[in-house]
Amino acid sequence: MAPTAAARPTAPTATAPTATAPTAFAATPYVAARSRAHGPTAALWHAVELHRPAAEVDGACELTLCGTLARVTLDEEWPTSARDVCVPCVALAGGR
Ligand SMILES: [Zn+2]
Repeated sequence: MAPTAAARPTAPTATAPTATAPTAFAATPYVAARSRAHGPTAALWHAVELHRPAAEVDGACELTLCGTLARVTLDEEWPTSARDVCVPCVALAGGR
């Protein structure tokens, strides 16, 4: 009885089925999300950590790094070049 593992000489270990193509995500695991103006607080851009494919969170309200709720907007990239950015989110996203 030949062991099945040895019976597959052409199976390279480099293409193991456990590889999940991490390069499908952006360079940073964060997306930009726009909060709404809330009392004296102006609307700001926050960072949301991406746990799911970006297409699934587009337009959804997600919890930002600083703990508020904001609507994910894939039109804006994180880190964003906008000036009205949430400072805690920049720090929490490792912006230095
Ligand atoms: Zn924030």
